[in-house]
Amino acid sequence: MASSPKRSTQPSTPDDPLATPHVRVAVIGSGFGGLGAGVRLRRAGITDFVILERAGSAGGTWRDNSYPGCACDVPSHLYSFSFAPNPEWPRSFSRQPDIRAYLEKVADVFGLRPHLRFHTEVTELRWEREHTRWRVTTRAGSWTADAVVSASGPLADPKLPQVPGLAEFPGRVFHSSRWDHDYDLTGKRVAVIGTGASAAQIIPEIQPAVGELTVFQRTPAWVLPRADREITALEKWLHGRIPATGLLRRASVFAMRELQVGAFVRQPEMLRLVQRMAVRNLERGIADPELRARLTPDYRIGCKRILLSNTYYPALAAPNARLVTSGLAEVRGSTLVAADGTEAEADAIVFGTGFHVTDLPIAERVFGTEGHSLAEEWKGGMEALRGSTVHGFPNLFFVIGPNTGLGNSSMILMIESQLNYVIDALRTLDAVGATAMQPTARAQRHWNLEVQHRMRRTVWNTGGCRSWYLDSQGRNTITWPGSTSAFRRATRRVDLSEYELLKRTAPVAREVAA
Ligand code: NAP
Repeated sequence: MASSPKRSTQPSTPDDPLATPHVRVAVIGSGFGGLGAGVRLRRAGITDFVILERAGSAGGTWRDNSYPGCACDVPSHLYSFSFAPNPEWPRSFSRQPDIRAYLEKVADVFGLRPHLRFHTEVTELRWEREHTRWRVTTRAGSWTADAVVSASGPLADPKLPQVPGLAEFPGRVFHSSRWDHDYDLTGKRVAVIGTGASAAQIIPEIQPAVGELTVFQRTPAWVLPRADREITALEKWLHGRIPATGLLRRASVFAMRELQVGAFVRQPEMLRLVQRMAVRNLERGIADPELRARLTPDYRIGCKRILLSNTYYPALAAPNARLVTSGLAEVRGSTLVAADGTEAEADAIVFGTGFHVTDLPIAERVFGTEGHSLAEEWKGGMEALRGSTVHGFPNLFFVIGPNTGLGNSSMILMIESQLNYVIDALRTLDAVGATAMQPTARAQRHWNLEVQHRMRRTVWNTGGCRSWYLDSQGRNTITWPGSTSAFRRATRRVDLSEYELLKRTAPVAREVAA
């Protein structure tokens, strides 16, 4: 006998496989994307959802990255949800503990706790064609879901280089996003591998405490001064009492950032002025011309992420610091060997080597209408329609999907645009009486041809660098070649002419043992 699907947000367990609960939406991840999805679903009147989180608390990348000095390079009044302004931000560029606390508060204030499932890593997501739904298998049981919002994040899975001999290194080894707080670096010989945004924040924090610091730099970064300051009590009072002042502040930061887009996207030569500022910053920070030369990038500013720091150069110029201008190639006992043969002794290695971004691990676990994985689908490079949906994977919505990254503004703006799109998709399905939607192959191809066409002029593609924005084939599948406003417009509404609709023909229900 068919009955309506069992609605429950508790998972089935292996002992009770028949009782697989069904939810309208399964959200993967509880960072800004996943929590934002939860708020928007509730506001749309959808309460039948779970937020699946592999760790033991919420916060995503702002939970994982607890390294010393971790902070955001986008002013907090813009790097926060539009629907959850925070008059209490302590600094213009807030630090990780404050951002994490903000996300915890969002989870509380917006009633997301009942939806959160911790220690529930998604191990497989499989489309069940006969039921027109997803089967979501996790380490803590299974669910079925009409739709899945994948907000697992691009900066979630640490990337460690394959270095011969690393397994035999006798000291401590950890990645920037998995900081070993039990290990005291004081007085130790510490090697930091990489000079990206994470390493650049770690280096000045640990340099005064460590005995010797060796930095392995493969490619120098452009660095600009960081205009960070405390938010005064008066400002906080004003933002709390007169919310319009907070909104005004947000709007002005937004406008400044939006104005810069043209330079990154259409006229990289305009960045020459900014590059001159970075050269002056280097000259001010590093007195030794030889060290300065080794820290001077040979590509246009903006091609890789610009670093903001007032302490990075002084730390590298300190007497206990040494810069090796070559990548780590081999480890022989406690000796680290660079690709150019330079050697350094170390008690600990900190990898600031980034994340699996263009080869998202979640894609290995998702199986669509044809039975193959999303990783297989994307073996020629990641792509989606409007950064959100993929042909062959109905009702799977990405938050921070392909080509939604930014070089100069707040990712929270992009996340909120993608959430607008998800909510409109779910409303549209209800309105037309369909169960699922998937983009047509044609619409997806057309969107990506256009994105890649616009990408050709951007600084990320023309600036003469090799960054994590480019995949193994040299295609930029990460950044958005436009303004955040343009992306907002592109994701305001689902255009049904870009989609195929699917209707559930067989009932989803099964007999549930009494
Ligand atoms: P990343 O930008 O990918 O940097 C990785 C670094 O590791 C690069 O310098 C890379 O060199 C280097 N590297 C890789 N393998 C190496 C090897 N064998 N030897 C020596 N160096 C090696 O990673 P990330 O710093 O973690 O930052 C990732 C992203 O997170 C950022 O771009 C940003 O979006 C975000 N983030 C933001 C902030 C902030 O707001 N302040 C802070 C941290 C992170 P190459 O350049 O030569 O590849």
